[in-house]
Amino acid sequence: MVKKFIIAIDLGGTNLKCALLDSRLKIKARSYFNTRSFDNKPKLIQGIIQSVESFMVNHRLNRSAVLGIGIGMPGPVDTRKGLVHFLPNIPGWKEVGLKKILEHKTKLPVFIDNDAKLMALAEYKCGAAKKYKNALCLTLGTGVGGGLIIDGALYRGPDNAAGEVGHLIINEEGLVCGCGGRGCLETYIGNNHIIREARKLFGPGITLEEVSALAGKKNAKAINFWNQVGEKLGVAVSTLVNVLNLEAVVIGGGVSHAGNALFDSVRQTVRSRAMRVQGQRVKILKAKLGVDAGIIGAGYLVKES
Ligand SMILES: [Zn+2]
Repeated sequence: MVKKFIIAIDLGGTNLKCALLDSRLKIKARSYFNTRSFDNKPKLIQGIIQSVESFMVNHRLNRSAVLGIGIGMPGPVDTRKGLVHFLPNIPGWKEVGLKKILEHKTKLPVFIDNDAKLMALAEYKCGAAKKYKNALCLTLGTGVGGGLIIDGALYRGPDNAAGEVGHLIINEEGLVCGCGGRGCLETYIGNNHIIREARKLFGPGITLEEVSALAGKKNAKAINFWNQVGEKLGVAVSTLVNVLNLEAVVIGGGVSHAGNALFDSVRQTVRSRAMRVQGQRVKILKAKLGVDAGIIGAGYLVKES
C-alpha cells in the first residue's frame, strides 16, 4: 500500500489539536481536546495515543499507510533525540523522551519539534512568508514564540533553541520572566501583561478579543492601546531586522486579530526605528494559516524527516 497519510498533533497549553493529513497536507479529519482535561503527564500521553488510534480505526488505515506522527510542543525540544526539555505552561514535563514512548506504543515513526518553529515552517512553506527566504514568524499568546527562516531553511541553532524572540531582553531591570530572566519582550507583550494593562483602562473582566473588537469599531482608547503594544513590538522587531536583514516578519496568534491598530503601529515603528536599508526591505505581515499553522507545520516535519 502507498504511504499517504500523516497524523499531526499540536499540543497547546489550552487545546490538544489532532488531525489526519493527506500527503499534500490537506486536513482530512480533526479531533480536539481540552489539554487541562488530562490532569497529569501519563494521561496526556495516553490521550495522544488514543487520538492516533481512533484516526487509524475510523479511517481503516494500516500502519503502512501512515508516514508518521508529527507533534508540535509548547516548549524547548531536542528534535534529534525526540526529547521534551520542559513545558512552561504544562506542569510535570521534564526531560521526557516522548518520541521513544510514542514510537513504542503506536509502532509508527514519531517526530517532535517546538510549536513556534513548526508554525514558522508552515507559514514559510505555504503561508504569509511563502515568497521570503529570510523571515521571522512570531506567535503572540501567553508566551511569545518565534521561528526564523534564514536563507530558505528553518534556523535551529546547535541546540534547536534559536528563535526565542519572546526572550529578547528589552529592559535590563524589567519584570522577572517565566524563563528566569528579567525584562524579556514576553513580559511586555505576552497576554498576561497586556490583559492586566487592558483591565486598568477598560475595567475588570474585559477580554483582549473585546479590546480588539472595540478597535475595529474605531474606539480611540482601544486603538491607542493596540498602538502602544505595537510600538513595543515594533522596537523589538527593529532590533531583529537590523541584525538579520529580514525580508518579512509574520505576526500570528490571538493578539494579531487586533488588526490595523496593531499592525500599522508595528510598521510605523519599524520604519522610524530600524536602520534605513533594513527598515525599507522588511514587510510586516499577518500570519495566513491561523490556528492550523501548527498542524500543517507538524505535517511538513514528518514529510521532510
Ligand atoms: Zn524570558
